[in-house]
Amino acid sequence: MKTFEDRDGISQHDEFQAWRDANPDGMFLNFVTQLSTNLHGAQCGHLGSTDWMADSDGTNSLTRKRKVCADSEDKLFAWAKASRVSVEPCKHCMRDGFISSSPVGNRAGSEAPELQSHVNYWLVRGSPAENGAFEFIKRGERGPWRTKRPPRDWRAGDRLLFWASSPRRELIALGEFEGETGEVTSEGETLYNVHYLSDVAAHPLTLDELRNDHVLQGALFLKNGPAASVLRLTVAEGEHLHHVLTCRNPSMANVWPELSRADVGPLAIVPGALQTKLVQLLGTLIRRAAAHGPERWGGYRLWLGRTIECRLDRNSDDK
Ligand SMILES: [Zn+2]
Repeated sequence: MKTFEDRDGISQHDEFQAWRDANPDGMFLNFVTQLSTNLHGAQCGHLGSTDWMADSDGTNSLTRKRKVCADSEDKLFAWAKASRVSVEPCKHCMRDGFISSSPVGNRAGSEAPELQSHVNYWLVRGSPAENGAFEFIKRGERGPWRTKRPPRDWRAGDRLLFWASSPRRELIALGEFEGETGEVTSEGETLYNVHYLSDVAAHPLTLDELRNDHVLQGALFLKNGPAASVLRLTVAEGEHLHHVLTCRNPSMANVWPELSRADVGPLAIVPGALQTKLVQLLGTLIRRAAAHGPERWGGYRLWLGRTIECRLDRNSDDK
């Protein structure tokens, strides 16, 4: 068993990528929160290829969240049980055969205390009157926020989308919740810690635009009403807002790598350098798929500064 996790500003991204490369049939637990993990295969499509490297500041490092790796699921489940962390298998990895598809309850040592482990999305509202131009929001920085009504079920590792309230009324940045500090101000406000994962967007999303977005019809945060400072978003809303914001602000595309996607098809226009890299990566993937036999054909996601999905079919190497 091996553990990879960024500590004291030192990323273990490269070591983890090397482990994935050397152990294509291995599995790992990804810590979503301190007590809940997801089980993935080393080749999980969420992570892209093993070729891409993290930015030098480690912001998009794969090992920002702890990864516990092993060569068998039994070892990981036994470890999880002893460590009292929950395990939820990745649906995509089950579908692609990277991990076994038997239900969790039938697995050895899988009596985990809690099985639900998805990440929550929260809209955090800040007023321009109190925060000015939000200059303190800088990718990689951390800082405290406060709220009168903290959600009961938010957990460290949850995703935050920052909203500049009236008169701006715009979605401006992305971040991660790092837990309450345990302190309450004299005004009864709970303090909590935030890790900013982006700068303030050069091109924010305005309230009017979002109200015209058909995916967001019925979204609570777009209605008028009590202006709670932290508001729950559904996973679909959170992922969609991330998608729209990062499409408009390409520098944000690495924030939550598994959500970044771009479609490449016969009609896509790909710059020359990107095309070269794409062809090289496809070559690597095709060789790897061939080495693993027919069960490895299928959907892949490539990392080219952002994730690109592609399909390898059996005929790809006939040429
Ligand atoms: Zn997976």
